[in-house]
This record gives sequence, structure tokens and C-alpha cells, in this order.
Amino acid sequence: MSTPSLLILAGDGIGPEVMAQVRRVIDWMGDKRGLKFNVSEDLVGGAAYDAHGTPLTDDTMARAQAADAVLLGAVGGPKYDDLDFSVKPERGLLRLRKEMDLYANLRPAQCFDALADASSLKREVVAGLDIMIVRELTSGIYFGEPRGIIDDNEGGRIGINTQRYTTDEIRRVARSAFELARRRNNKVCSMEKANVMESGILWREEVTWVHENEYQDVELSHMYADAGAMQLCRWPKQFDVIVTDNLFGDLLSDAAAMLTGSLGMLPSASLGAPNEQGRPKALYEPVHGSAPDIAGTGKANPIACILSYAMALRYSFDQGDEAARIEAAVEAVLADGARTADLLGPDGGEAVTTGEMGDRILAALDASL
Ligand code: NAD
Repeated sequence: MSTPSLLILAGDGIGPEVMAQVRRVIDWMGDKRGLKFNVSEDLVGGAAYDAHGTPLTDDTMARAQAADAVLLGAVGGPKYDDLDFSVKPERGLLRLRKEMDLYANLRPAQCFDALADASSLKREVVAGLDIMIVRELTSGIYFGEPRGIIDDNEGGRIGINTQRYTTDEIRRVARSAFELARRRNNKVCSMEKANVMESGILWREEVTWVHENEYQDVELSHMYADAGAMQLCRWPKQFDVIVTDNLFGDLLSDAAAMLTGSLGMLPSASLGAPNEQGRPKALYEPVHGSAPDIAGTGKANPIACILSYAMALRYSFDQGDEAARIEAAVEAVLADGARTADLLGPDGGEAVTTGEMGDRILAALDASL
């Protein structure tokens, strides 16, 4: 098999700082585990605007389309606040998502034991938590027409958005969720509001169709999204994979992520259609932004970006064992007490720098051999 390609777009602010630590982990995997990639780097966001006057060039877009996976740091910053909307750094990211047609957004909520006490929920509710929310990302109420704000001709106004889903849009994201479940604990819970929304009825019927025709080996349940929100707070460990639409997924994935602590810990993936080899179009990135308030200070936590690379190993390259090795190294480092500033509790303590966190994770990887 030819060496797979990985395109790195580090971006702005802390993006290049956390990505430098990911590069070390990528190199470690190449040297010690024989996991080689053709790694190339390019510009996105403000960095691309500074160099080319656009947040993503056509050339970079073409390279992203051709890559086996894209790993992105973060984009944006106050320097670009006054730019025209069409060339803002975030437009680069949106263009990648749109043109790669990344319709399934994966947000894991995983609680490392050493951080369980930092959660707003009780330790026993979150310790060992490992669930995945699959949010439909390219359709639904954020895109549906008609939309807008119109006069009601009686002195008031009407705001309109349309929730709209097609059979194909639901079936393809359902397939992503069932495929993921097969690599995890084989359970999918689909969430909608079929009790009050026709689009919810269709969602439930189409997910059920995909299950009956293609994935009977996976356990499927359905839940109304409001009940799902309650269950996520009450006993999140009952779930494995949750699949839901764009709007509910936006809310549920943020709520679930926060069960487990800091923004500096949260990875994500956005996946599109699989190619002939079954490998999906894929963009992996930390959930956090460019954190301009700490950029250049060595305070950024690189773990979210390192875990995003681990997701790439698991979901693009079938290297679940090596992904687990990285996650175990992170767990070991945290258990040993290493904390970047964002992970320190109210009692303070001594923080390690971005580079020191990278050193510790590499040492834990060495120890895993
Ligand atoms: P942010 O995620 O950049 O930062 C929010 C807070 O969390 C800040 O206090 C920051 O210091 C902290 N933080 C974030 N990541 C951290 C890490 N890895 N380690 C330690 N602390 C971390 O969100 P924001 O401040 O609202 O936005 C800043 C810029 O990032 C804006 O230009 C915004 O548009 C952009 N942004 C980009 C993305 C992305 O690239 N996907 C996502 C969100 C925001």
C-alpha cells in the first residue's frame, strides 16, 4: 500500500504552537511504530490571508481534497476582525467543510480519570465516560430555505428558518454513526423530536430503514432530543454513539463536551463520503479556537490537537490500537499530575508549558513500548 498523505493546516494563534507538539507525536509514530505518512503543510485562515489575500487558496483546497486526511489547528484572531466577511479567517475553514462535503461531525465526550473531579457532575457519573456524538453538519435548520426576517405588515417582523432534511441526507449520516458504532461498543441512539416535528418523523423512519437494511448487528434506540439532553446530564454512560441533526447536535455536543472539562482537551472530526477504499473525506481539528489571549506565551494545552490526530489514526487509517496508545499516554501524564494552565483547579499549582506537555506525552509513549 502507498504511504497515506496527511495535510497539516496549523492556522493562527495557538494553532501552530499546539501543532508543533502533534508533529512530534506523528514523528514518534513513524520512528517507533512504523506508521509513516507523507506529511505536508500549508496555510489557512489569517496566515493564508497575510500571504495570499485569501483565507484558503484554490491550490490549498485542491491539496485538501487530495489528502487522505487533513489536520487543522485553529483560525482567527483580533488582527482580522475588521476584514470583509468574505475573507475572514473562518471562511477558510467553512470552505474546507463545504467543498469536502463533510456532513458528519464527530465530537467525543471522553473523561480522563485524572480530570473527573474537574467536572461539574459527580465523579461516578463522568469517570471513564467515553461517548461519541455524531452531528449532521451540512443541512437542517441552519441551511434550510425559506429563511430571513420579513415585515408582517402590521408594524412587527417575522423571523423564519426552515428545518429541512432529505432521505439521502439522513441516511448518509446514519451510516456514519453505525460504522462508528461497529468500531466502538456497537450501540447507536438517534435523537430528534418526532413527537412534534415532521422532519423528526422522517429522521426516525430513515435511520430505522438504514438499520433494518444495512446494520442489524448494531443496537439502535431512539430518544426525543430533550429527553436525551436530560439523560446526558443524569447518566451519560448509557450511551455509545448518539446521532442527531445539525441544531440538536450543536447543543447536545457542547453540553456533552463540557461534562468532561477544559476546551483544551476536546478533539473533533468532520467526515464526508467514503472513497472506494472505504476511507472518508476527513478533517480533524481541536474544538477550541486560536486563543489569542494566550498565543505566544507557552500556555496552550496541546492535548486537544494531539487527540485529534489520534482520531485520524482511528477513523481514517484503521489504527485504533495506536490511537488508544496515544490516549493512554495522555491519561498517564494527567494521572502523574502534569497540567497546563487551563487544567489547574481553583487551588492553582504549577503549570507545565505547551512544550513540556509534549515532552511528557512523548515520554509516556516511550514507556508504552
Ligand atoms: P477560543 O477557543 O480561542 O478560546 C476560548 C478560551 O479558552 C480562551 O480563554 C483561551 O485562552 C482558552 N483556550 C482555548 N484553547 C485552549 C488551549 N488549547 N489551551 C489552553 N486554553 C485554551 O475561543 P474565542 O476566544 O472565542 O475565539 C478566539 C478566536 O478563535 C476567534 O477569532 C474565533 O473566531 C476563533 N475560533 C476559531 C475556531 C476554529 O478554528 N475552529 C473555533 C472557535 C473560535
